[in-house]
Amino acid sequence: MYRTHNCGELRIEDAGKEVILSGWIQTSNNLGHMNFVQLRDRYGITQLNFNKDDNAELLEKSGKLGREFVVMAKGIVRERSSKNKNIPTGDIEIQVHELTILNESKVPPFTIEDESDGGDDLRMKYRYLDLRRRPVQNNIIFRAKVGMETRKYLSDQGFLEIETPFLIKSTPEGARDFIVPSRLNPNQFYALPQSPQTFKQILMVAGMDKYFQIVKCFRDEDLRADRQPEFTQIDCEMAFVTQEEILNTFEGLTKHLFKETLGIELDDFPRMTYDEAMVRYGSDKPDTRFGMEFVELNDLAQGKGFGVFDNAELVVGINAEGQADQYSNKDIKKLTEWMQRPQIGAKGLVYVKYNDDGSVKSSVGKFFSDDDLKAWGEKFGAKAGDMLLILSGETDKTRKQLNELRLEMGRRMGLMKPGDFKPLWVVDFPLLEWDEESGRFHAMHHPFTSPKKEDVDRMLNGDHETMKSLRADAYDLVINGSEIGGGSIRIHDRALQERNFELLGFTEEEAEAQFGFLMGAFEYGAPPHGGLAFGFDRLCAVLMGQTSIRDFIAFPKNNQGRDVMIDAPAPIAKEQLDELYLELKEKE
Ligand code: ASP
Repeated sequence: MYRTHNCGELRIEDAGKEVILSGWIQTSNNLGHMNFVQLRDRYGITQLNFNKDDNAELLEKSGKLGREFVVMAKGIVRERSSKNKNIPTGDIEIQVHELTILNESKVPPFTIEDESDGGDDLRMKYRYLDLRRRPVQNNIIFRAKVGMETRKYLSDQGFLEIETPFLIKSTPEGARDFIVPSRLNPNQFYALPQSPQTFKQILMVAGMDKYFQIVKCFRDEDLRADRQPEFTQIDCEMAFVTQEEILNTFEGLTKHLFKETLGIELDDFPRMTYDEAMVRYGSDKPDTRFGMEFVELNDLAQGKGFGVFDNAELVVGINAEGQADQYSNKDIKKLTEWMQRPQIGAKGLVYVKYNDDGSVKSSVGKFFSDDDLKAWGEKFGAKAGDMLLILSGETDKTRKQLNELRLEMGRRMGLMKPGDFKPLWVVDFPLLEWDEESGRFHAMHHPFTSPKKEDVDRMLNGDHETMKSLRADAYDLVINGSEIGGGSIRIHDRALQERNFELLGFTEEEAEAQFGFLMGAFEYGAPPHGGLAFGFDRLCAVLMGQTSIRDFIAFPKNNQGRDVMIDAPAPIAKEQLDELYLELKEKE
């Protein structure tokens, strides 16, 4: 027997018991006549005590224990003379009378402490050591709990967990596919699923009614910060449902997860249309932990001779409350430069300060009277001490830029409070998005999303301009500015699906070749259906108030999409290539 207890469970009540513990050496503090050794496992840390009076031989043996040695210790639980209030086992220690070294360890390349001295790359290379660190381990344990609670909740609601294949044909969901060559079918390729979208819809046609799966998805994208080429979704689909029922079901799941994992009871989630979110926050995933909502100024700011505003489609700003005396001219200049970086691309930034002494100061004071500027302030509800920040230009671009500024100001002003959770549903997304550059429509959600019932006719018969105004029963769950998930009511009718592919620029043949199976299935009694998927990794991170999904994945890839522990991707042998009819080509 390796252990009677784990390293996190013994308490003062256990004093006097003989126990066996196994684990890793965290530290040892050898005083010569005594050695205090901290033994660690997944459950906690327990102190082992070796001393000369008790057993001189064992004390000497304990002196050989290095960091991360794996040991088994048998001994008696007893009260500690100097207690450690910071850990649950801090009242006791083990008076050891038998010590077995189960395995030795090289000196680890970084410290296995909450705050490690190892850099990212080193910790990724020795991920098994990084995973021994408490914060990382806690994240992975937390993830397991979220997964378990998800399964419990959805099973109780009658959902079936059904696996769908990983070796499939390409499904366009906006990213590039990972491709797998087929040995048995020379020169043919599988794609790894970007999501199980078409399969879950087929499961509805098959009568499965309520499906879910906690499932890996693969997207070969250029890695932006905090994206992983393989990530996990809680993927769901339901038949005979309206949008309302789907939102309620998954609001229920979200509330359940917050309650069971954090003990937090969330209020009902507000709903906001896409259009409203864009007008009020310039974003389809607004962080609603704080206000600072957009106020449009076209009516007050145009026609007064300030050309920049007069020529703009939109003049819009935010009120940074209490910031007037926080920003010197130099600070404003820096903030303006921050906004002008190519990532944001604002042309300029106008400010208006309402000073405590009642005076008004603005970068456009030359063009506008104090009364003008005070009227703006009124529209914003600005008080003495507040500062307006105003942008102007083309509507969509300006809103996007102001969204960045709002978030930055929210950060600077400490308005994104950790532990404060503000979920909301954003609904009624546009069905199609016109892309000037490629001169094509893109599906805003994906090509299987249904237009709203009232828009079906306009979609089938309308002209090009009409297509831009179609709305979909598509929705996103947003928490604290993070998109946690999204979904839609689907098309379940062949003619409408064909029309959608046509609008998306597929020829009839292309649509048939790629999605004939789905449209074919629609001809055999497809029920109305819809669903959604939550980003599981992101959900875990948001619940724990963290920003990086990587910390919630046991074996994540680095920014180059590499697994540095196993060193993948890697070349393969000539024979493997031959078997697959593949030839290597020099990179240009
Ligand atoms: N398949 C979609 C996605 O991956 C989710 C859905 O529409 O259910 O985002």
